[in-house]
Amino acid sequence: ASGYNLLRDPRYNKGLAFTERERETHYLRGLLPPQIVTQELQKYMALMDLQEGNERLFYKLLIDNVEELLPIVYTPTVGEACQKYGSIFSRPQGLYISLKEKGKILEVLKNWPERSIQVIVVTDGERILGLGDLGCQGMGIPVGKLALYTALGGVRPSACLPITLDVGTNNEELLNDEFYIGLRQRRATGQEYAEFLQEFMSAVKQNYGEKVLIQFEDFANHNAFDLLAKYGTTHLVFNDDIQGTASVVLAGLVAAQKLISGTLADHKYLFLGAGEAGTGIAELIALEISRQTKAPIEECREKIWLVDSKGLIVSSRKESLQHFKKPWAHEHEPVGSLLDAVHAIKPTVLIGTSGKGQTFTQDVVEAMSSFNEKPIILALSNPTSQSECTAEQAYTWSKGRAVFATGSPFDPVEYDGKIHVPGQANNAYIFPGFGLGVVMSGAIRVHDDMLLAACLATRRPRPKDLVKYAESCMYSPVYRNYR
Ligand code: NAP
Ligand code: MN
Repeated sequence: ASGYNLLRDPRYNKGLAFTERERETHYLRGLLPPQIVTQELQKYMALMDLQEGNERLFYKLLIDNVEELLPIVYTPTVGEACQKYGSIFSRPQGLYISLKEKGKILEVLKNWPERSIQVIVVTDGERILGLGDLGCQGMGIPVGKLALYTALGGVRPSACLPITLDVGTNNEELLNDEFYIGLRQRRATGQEYAEFLQEFMSAVKQNYGEKVLIQFEDFANHNAFDLLAKYGTTHLVFNDDIQGTASVVLAGLVAAQKLISGTLADHKYLFLGAGEAGTGIAELIALEISRQTKAPIEECREKIWLVDSKGLIVSSRKESLQHFKKPWAHEHEPVGSLLDAVHAIKPTVLIGTSGKGQTFTQDVVEAMSSFNEKPIILALSNPTSQSECTAEQAYTWSKGRAVFATGSPFDPVEYDGKIHVPGQANNAYIFPGFGLGVVMSGAIRVHDDMLLAACLATRRPRPKDLVKYAESCMYSPVYRNYR
């Protein structure tokens, strides 16, 4: 009986955070589902309860404590939430549209209680952060992204719609888990997938009109680029992993020029990871260099090199490369490892978009520091566990010289008596404002120029009345008086 009482005494209860050992020794077995969660995740769950119970209070708390709460509702804790989604949620937080709803997607959309939707964030759960295929459990991502649309961008919560398209999963663990909340079948591909997406995109336009912003989030790259290209001409679509990330990283590089003399064109860039984030960032950098120098884009791309899981992307590999990698296949002999690539290319900027943690090793960071006074190193992979290196490693191995930023937040590091504060390079700094701008202006297509403008916006004086107008469009979480 003591375990039962433990769970009911608020002074001692830890809920799902009771460890295996505690469950064993305190007679808790069977009283809790098997999942064990961290206290961070419990903060997330408490916040989600608040969002359900008192939306304005949730947003007031989030807006007044952004720095502290962002790591909870967003990366890294949202990653754990997705991994353990089944056991922590009982209530739906968005729309789940599965293959079972094929032919009826419009009806499903009509089941959502809100009529005037301005922003949809949709995922099919195939590449959740750097955690891989989480299937239907990916819902945490659209929910978290939209919370930021409201908290940081001021889009009304009622105008936001999180959607998960459940087309199956290839995650063996989930397929074998009888408590998995999604379809227990392998992912639809090819024509079946394309038709399902087509029906979804048409239904969205039919139901919400042309001005609804559809943000594609955490799709695998074998679908993401094609979906963006296909629907970019017919819908108001935006891929945050490709475009949002590019915009925020370019903004970071522009800002870094204040610490390091020169211009974007003076740098040499090396990426670890040549997927959505990597090639998206690379292309926007090339575009901006081309604008600044008036040189043709092909020439600008030659300053940028990418490494994927097979090594440096070079021209001899061109035939076998996915189409989004082809522009980056420059003339060079094959190079297998990142370390060898760093030695061969001698980049001034090293960017991690691999989704693989601990890949910026001591050798790599030391090599960067050997030929750069201030190496720029960005470890962008999320969540924290997948970061290419930690802040402490970057500053220690570079002897305090790295200009460093990460995708997930890291605490400041003291090195040699000096406090180094790592920057956070995350698309959360761009998509909420970008989305608000798109929605406010009534745009019906997204163009690359808009992304460049968004990341360079601070260069221009902002017209006063425009800001006022923006504020008047934005949601306020302050309580209203009911009469
Ligand atoms: P993606 O499209 O799947 O691309 C991953 C790339 O990394 C692929 O090119 C892959 O190689 C390569 N790769 C994987 N393991 C590698 C290894 N051991 N060595 C070298 N290359 C390796 O994924 P993505 O959308 O670009 O996202 C990647 C990561 O970036 C994720 O962790 C995500 O959370 C993070 N991200 C961060 C932000 C941010 O705002 N900070 C935004 C978006 C994404 P192959 O092509 O050969 O398979
Ligand atoms: Mn993403």
